Amino acid sequence: MSPGVSPFSPSIPCTSDACDRIDSPVGHKHSACTPDLTGKSLLTFSALNTFRNCPRKYKHRYIDQLQGRERADTLAFGSLIHAALETWYRATDDADRLWTILDDLDRAYPNRAGDPHAKRTWQLARAMVSGYAARYPQEDFEVVEVEKVFQAEIRNPDTGRPSQTFVMAGKVDGIVRLDGELYLLEHKTAGSIDANYLDKLWTDTQIALYSHYLRELGSPIVGVIYNVLLKTRIQQHAGESQEEYEARRAVLAAKNKSGRSTAKRQLPETDDEFQARLAEWYAKPEAFHRERIYLSEDRLAMLQDEVWEITQQYLDARRRGKWLLNTSNCFSFQRPCAYLPYCQSGFNPNVRDNLFEIRPPHEELEGLDDAATGETLENPF
Ligand code: SF4
Repeated sequence: MSPGVSPFSPSIPCTSDACDRIDSPVGHKHSACTPDLTGKSLLTFSALNTFRNCPRKYKHRYIDQLQGRERADTLAFGSLIHAALETWYRATDDADRLWTILDDLDRAYPNRAGDPHAKRTWQLARAMVSGYAARYPQEDFEVVEVEKVFQAEIRNPDTGRPSQTFVMAGKVDGIVRLDGELYLLEHKTAGSIDANYLDKLWTDTQIALYSHYLRELGSPIVGVIYNVLLKTRIQQHAGESQEEYEARRAVLAAKNKSGRSTAKRQLPETDDEFQARLAEWYAKPEAFHRERIYLSEDRLAMLQDEVWEITQQYLDARRRGKWLLNTSNCFSFQRPCAYLPYCQSGFNPNVRDNLFEIRPPHEELEGLDDAATGETLENPF
């Protein structure tokens, strides 16, 4: 934001009970905390990023509301762990909070006995949150907010004037106070943590942008604490079939001068045995990682410019009805875009109906009070 255009004025103290600003300085305009956003459309980082990467993808996702019928497993697992951590940090005074979470996980997988995939996910989630509870029974930070939903003005960086069309909406996992300063707490589940992974955290545009808007709303965020939970790759041993056992025993016997083997058949690992092995894995230091990153002022300023430019490009695309295909984005992230078959088919309605269902975007913002804007969350533009 340009100097001199701060929405906060020290001359008008905030007296509203509804004001939820954190670390409020002496006096500020409450209207800046709960701006009158009537008539404006909600813009999320996901929508913004999607439009920037491929305008046509934006149209599929946010205007036509097409989503694949299958939900990615990694997303489902990540959502599950986020929900567990939300409970964990909302109930810091509850000595039974881990049991509450484990009960929730049990309820989330009622069919685990007959579904090996559900059982594996359930076991992993239970082991992960139990290990987490053992690792972090107490924190060195104070939890200030959990699953904080926000809306903030998007401003023209040259004039400081708010957009007449959009407001930024988002949700952060948490806000914590450490050594007297505020940080975003961002939960992540990861398959591995290496130098590449940690380097990528520095490029996390979404969280940097959200930090900026939370600052605008009065929370002086200085950095981000990434709370990374590793997903182990260990699997429950299936045991040997009779044929596999006999083949192995024959090989061992052939190596033995006596021509015999005392090898026993390997039996399937029981659920209790597997859970014990998972617990052992999650007791390792490398199973959880915390990375603290400070925000760069230059980067935040550049992000504001970017957000404004993209909103202007969007308005232009909408006015002209042109949703360009950015084919250089079709194979980003080492996998094809979910809409590839639809684009390849020339937007054949049969392909669309077979592969996609209509589902509103922005599930991550469930709970956001859209009455504040009078807008639904279904089309951010
Ligand atoms: S397949 Fe390519 S062109 Fe089509 S929406 Fe995806 S990224 Fe855009």
